[in-house]
Amino acid sequence: MTNIAILRCEKNESKCPLTGCFTALSKTKQGFDKYDTCTLTGVFTCHCPGDNIAELAKILKSKGAHAIHFVTCSFAKKTDNGWDDSNGGFCDNFNRIAKQVHKETGLPCVLGTAHLPKGYTPKILD
Ligand code: SF4
Repeated sequence: MTNIAILRCEKNESKCPLTGCFTALSKTKQGFDKYDTCTLTGVFTCHCPGDNIAELAKILKSKGAHAIHFVTCSFAKKTDNGWDDSNGGFCDNFNRIAKQVHKETGLPCVLGTAHLPKGYTPKILD
C-alpha cells in the first residue's frame, strides 16, 4: 500500500474539490496507475508564490506519505480538446516548487493526478 499526499494550487481551491483526483487515486488510474494499491495520506494547498512549500512538504512526509503528487491542473489547462499541458496550468512556479519539494523530502514527486493530457506520462522526480 502506497501512502499518497497531494499538493494542489490555491487558484483552483474554490472551484474544484479534488473530485477527479480522488476518483483516480481510489481506482489507481491516471496518475496513480503505477501503484498496486494506494491510500490518501493528506492534501495541502500551496499558496502563491509557494514560500512555505518546504514546510508543507515536510509535514506530509512526517504524516507517512511515500510519494507526493501534484494536481494535473497545476501544470495543464482544460481545453475544448481535453487537458493540455503545452501552456502550463494554474501554477506559475510549478517546476521550481516540484523540485524543491523533492529536494526537501527526498520523496518521489509525481507530476499528475487525474485526467492526464493526451500522450502525457507522469514525470517523476526521484
Ligand atoms: S487535477 Fe482536476 S480534479 Fe484535481 S484539483 Fe485539478 S481540476 Fe480538480
